[in-house]
Amino acid sequence: MDRRKFLTSLLACPVCAATASAADGPHWEYEGANGAAKWGDMDSKFKACAVGAEQSPIDISDAIAANIDSLKISWKAEAYEVVNNGHTIQLNAKNGGTLTIGDRKYELKQFHFHTPSEHTLDGGRTAMEVHFVHATPEGRLAVVGVLMAGGGKNSAFSTVMASAPKKEGSAALKAPLDPWAFMPKTQEFFRYEGSLTTPPCSEVVDWNVLAKTITVSNADIAAFKAIFPMNARPLQPLNRRFLLRGS
Ligand SMILES: [Zn+2]
Repeated sequence: MDRRKFLTSLLACPVCAATASAADGPHWEYEGANGAAKWGDMDSKFKACAVGAEQSPIDISDAIAANIDSLKISWKAEAYEVVNNGHTIQLNAKNGGTLTIGDRKYELKQFHFHTPSEHTLDGGRTAMEVHFVHATPEGRLAVVGVLMAGGGKNSAFSTVMASAPKKEGSAALKAPLDPWAFMPKTQEFFRYEGSLTTPPCSEVVDWNVLAKTITVSNADIAAFKAIFPMNARPLQPLNRRFLLRGS
């Protein structure tokens, strides 16, 4: 059994772990006494946050151009459930469509937002980042990350923020929303093997971060920051991993 398979098998439901409500398990935050520097000490299940060598997010620079499997995305528009889970605003999919990489097919489970961006491109951070979380039935995860900057207009993000609960809770979108609205026009991307960026920081994620940034309105970014002023984990070292660039 390879190492990643073994790590995946430790988690009955990695997606659940990633999306558990703030009410479950130790109460972690981004800053202060329960902040990111403390996650690894808060619970034995969170150990990877402190000792893992393949953690996320990372600074994306000096990627190696490679002929790697492209992202074959087949998402579906849906009237997503919009949840404030105490850590982020998350849109849960019932039948969100698929992401295929090579011969592996993942299903879109949810997408959610961070501010500021968790990944940096050549050291540069943008206002926000969206993460599309996909899983196989065996619990392998593939996340597509897109950096988001202000100064633009994105009606899908405006719809999300208009519905986002300000306190923990959920709401339903009134009309189907197409997740494609959050994708840049070109699909050039960076790939590396990493982790969940929230406890338990499990190293089971194939990361795919788009090279191009999308723009959204400053008002919608401000609306998100009014709920979550900062929900980004600090950068983690690349260590011995490869960072690849594909298209
Ligand atoms: Zn995330």
